[in-house]
Amino acid sequence: MVTRSAQTHASLCGATCLLPEGASRAPLQMRGGYIAASVPAWAYRLDLPDHLIFPGLINAHDHLHVNAVPPLATTEVFANSYAWIDAFQAHFGAPSVEAALQVSKAVRLRHGGLKNLLAGATCVAHHDPWHEVLDAGDFPVALLRDYGWSYALGWSFYGPPVQQSFARTPMDRPWLIHLAEGTDATAQTELAQLDQLGCLDSRSILVHGVGLCEQDIERIIATGAGVVWCPTSNQRLLGRTLHPRRLADAGRLALGTDSRLSGSRDLLEELRHVAAGSELETWQWLGLVTADAARILRMPSRGALHPGAHADLVVVEDRGGDPVRSLVGISRAQLRAVVRDGLPRIADPDFADWFDAAGVETVPITLDGRPKLLAKSLADPEVIALEPGLELRPTHSGAAFSLEACY
Ligand SMILES: [Zn+2]
Repeated sequence: MVTRSAQTHASLCGATCLLPEGASRAPLQMRGGYIAASVPAWAYRLDLPDHLIFPGLINAHDHLHVNAVPPLATTEVFANSYAWIDAFQAHFGAPSVEAALQVSKAVRLRHGGLKNLLAGATCVAHHDPWHEVLDAGDFPVALLRDYGWSYALGWSFYGPPVQQSFARTPMDRPWLIHLAEGTDATAQTELAQLDQLGCLDSRSILVHGVGLCEQDIERIIATGAGVVWCPTSNQRLLGRTLHPRRLADAGRLALGTDSRLSGSRDLLEELRHVAAGSELETWQWLGLVTADAARILRMPSRGALHPGAHADLVVVEDRGGDPVRSLVGISRAQLRAVVRDGLPRIADPDFADWFDAAGVETVPITLDGRPKLLAKSLADPEVIALEPGLELRPTHSGAAFSLEACY
């Protein structure tokens, strides 16, 4: 029998731990949901030769509750996000959208959380009003908390008023706003407008920034603000995205998916998009979803593998060559394991012993055609039904139950 202590103490040995600043071959120790400098000799030991361990990824921008809402069926390119929002208003009447919105918001938020976790994103910045389900102990991912936000300068019907929300945000917390999401004059003037309103300082996290000019970017770096880059969403809506180099070199750029309404399937797909461009070095790809994101969003215990950091991890096979490419370029079904708070949450079936040792009950699932084990606490059938490519696999008892039902 596994003791309670053994459940929360583990040592992952033989793998290489990867961070933007370098690699380490030392065993990764976990205690009580955090990374520890050491664990007792009786801690659960897992040998992971030929594997790499990355910090759990940070998705710096999503709208968790709309990931199962069908996107706008158009290839039209918009001059700015406000034109896209106008087009979307009519789309809200479509039967498929109405049906998707019939699902309770709590279930849709959990679905957005699970979508992220399946792709190794263990922490998400949700750019919408708070909801009580986000505080549930079994919510699939960790969230950016205690932040200020407004929706956008040109869209005052939703979200807190810009100046009031900014003024109420403590100096040591981030304040989020969609900004310069467009290619026209409206988008190009938004940074100056924000500055005039007195809402540009080191708290300001500007999502998209497609319309920013070089001077704007220098101004952002000088004020210590940050930008969240969502290239897939930008390309789809606006036919263009920002040049990431200067912001990434300054460590002021993070990566977000946006929701599936406009963006990529998940953060791994977004990373593939980044890798397809040639502006950034491979270690910068990793920074966008780990250390840089954590710095910009002021979450010092995330996106890292140092003692005291949350034990949120992504385990992958070492594919040889540049280690970052063992993560960037693969899809979610290829992840070997995703760990949150020191416990495996989704992993390949050969990690069954690890789940047992951690005291995590599992259910068998299929993810994009591959068998996996998923923590039972995350296997709400209503949530799973919303996720394409994710299916519960029948167990022996389930099959027996169906058979009985037939008679
Ligand atoms: Zn957004």
